[in-house]
Parts: sequence; structure tokens; C-alpha cells
Amino acid sequence: MSAQILDGKKVAASIREEVVAEVAALKKKGVNPKLAVLLAGDDPASVVYARSKEKSCQKVGIEFSLYVLPGSVTDSEMLDLVGRLNRDESIHGIMIELPLPKQLDKKRMLEAVLPVKDVDGAHPFNRGCLFSGAGGLSPATPQSCIELLLRSGVEIKGKHAVLVGRGETVGKPLILMMLNQNATVTVCHTKTVDLAAQTRRADILVVAVGRPNMITADMIKPGAVVVDAGINEAAGGICGDVDFERAKEVAGLISPVPGGVGSLTTVMIQKNLLKAIELQGKSL
Ligand code: NAP
Repeated sequence: MSAQILDGKKVAASIREEVVAEVAALKKKGVNPKLAVLLAGDDPASVVYARSKEKSCQKVGIEFSLYVLPGSVTDSEMLDLVGRLNRDESIHGIMIELPLPKQLDKKRMLEAVLPVKDVDGAHPFNRGCLFSGAGGLSPATPQSCIELLLRSGVEIKGKHAVLVGRGETVGKPLILMMLNQNATVTVCHTKTVDLAAQTRRADILVVAVGRPNMITADMIKPGAVVVDAGINEAAGGICGDVDFERAKEVAGLISPVPGGVGSLTTVMIQKNLLKAIELQGKSL
């Protein structure tokens, strides 16, 4: 029997409705939510992501400013801009598109954003909040994995979650987020011995690697829930890290690419923007 689909577009649409309502309520109170996105250089994927955030913000009534910096931008020029945006009270959220041009000190740039405006949860303060499980702004992609599961009716509590990938953006924060949801967590990476033996033990398998079709059907426990956070360029579009066509014959629930995790990330940034406004003392 073929797996049911974890429908990212449907979940994103329902979260978007919440965002629209919250934005309208804030505007009635005289608060005009505004997101600033910084784009340094011309990485094609980052340009697409930034533009898609702009469109999406327009749809939900969030004001959006895109700051495009040349590929040759220096640390001090970028820090100047971040400092100005930090001080600008009309801007509630700041997001720096990654990757940054090589000459920039990524860590320094991400740490320069005020934690209460850090809508992609990249600042060490917000990363630290994941340890206590409350209070901060969570990174959008791992939060999308969690929301996709919970809002699709998947219980995480007590389940064995196996994560493949321990990258800074997705896998590593997801370890704590899954723990905070009371999953039992196993983390796999390039040094894992017998990856398939680990993945086959998963009730919930989350893959965030960046290698097309690396998770094959025989690596999945029959009936398991599979969340594919991978985004890879492929002939004719994008694909995930899971061999979707074959895996869906084994899994119980599975997220497609496109149409899965990636459909939620922009709306999670918007949710974080609204939380940022609350943290900045302008709550509903
Ligand atoms: P990353 O930092 O490059 O991390 C990749 C991870 O995969 C590393 O932990 C690496 O292990 C592990 N890995 C690589 N090959 C492996 C193998 N053969 N077996 C087991 N583990 C292996 O990547 P990332 O930034 O976290 O992103 C991961 C994926 O998510 C990418 O496809 C990216 O495009 C996607 N992504 C999606 C969204 C979205 O909106 N859906 C957003 C951001 C990223 P080591 O640590 O041992 O090197």
C-alpha cells in the first residue's frame, strides 16, 4: 500500500491563515509588521528564496525590505547595515540569506543581529534557548519539520526519531527540538557505521543531508514516518534526499520534495516575525 503524504502546502496554508489574522490584529493596534532580508552577492538560490519571501510577505500583509549588497561587501559594511536595522524600530525581523560571500565572517554577521529580531533563530542566544525548550526564536527549517509532523496529526512523544544529518541549519537544532517533543533521538552522520541499520529502527526518520536519493526504500521500517528536508537540484526541478517513488511503497507517511518541508519555511519565518514582535514588547 502506498504511504499517505505529509502535505506541506496544506499545512503551510493553515499556518498562513493564522499569520494573516495576527497581522491584521497587530495593524489594528498600530503595529505594522516588517521583515528585512539581507542578500549579499548573487547566489542564485538565495536570490530565489529572498524573492519568494517578498511575495509571500506581500500576500499576508507583512511589509518587506530587501537589502542587496554587492558580492564584494566587507564585514564592516555589512555590520553597519545590520546595526542600523537593529536600531530601526520599524523593523521587527532581520534575516541574512546564506551562504554569504567567502570574505565575510559568517559567525560574526549572524551574531550581530539582535536576538529578538533574529527570525531564523541563527543567533547563539536563540540556539541556546533550544536547550531549555522555550523562550527564543527557533530556526525555520527544523521547526518546519516539527510543525509538519504535529499539524499532520503525528505524535512525536515516545517515538524513536532517527535524524540523518547534523548540519548547523537543520540536523543539529532538530536534535534538541525532537528531544523537547519527548522523542527518543538517534543522530546519524558521515561517520555512522551501518547507516541503514539505524534508519531501519526509526519510527520517524528525518533526513537533512543534501544528497539525492541517498535514503532508499530498504532503509525504511515498514509504516515509518519519513520527513525529507533535503533540497537538491535535479534534471527538471528539485528533489529531496529520499528515493520518494520507492520509499512511499514502504513508509506509512512521507513528505514529498517539493511540496513538503520546504513549503513551510517562509511561513515559519513569518510566525517567528510575529513572535519577535511579542518579544519586542508589542504583543497583541
Ligand atoms: P550540511 O550542513 O551540509 O549538513 C549535511 C549533513 O549530512 C552533515 O551532518 C553530514 O555529516 C551529513 N551527511 C552527508 N553525507 C552523508 C552520508 N553519506 N551519510 C550520512 N550523513 C551524511 O547541510 P544542511 O545545511 O544542514 O542542509 C541539509 C539539507 O537540507 C540540504 O539538502 C539543504 O538543501 C536542505 N535544506 C532545506 C531547507 C528547506 O527549506 N527545506 C533549508 C535549509 C537546508 P557530517 O556532519 O559527518 O559531515
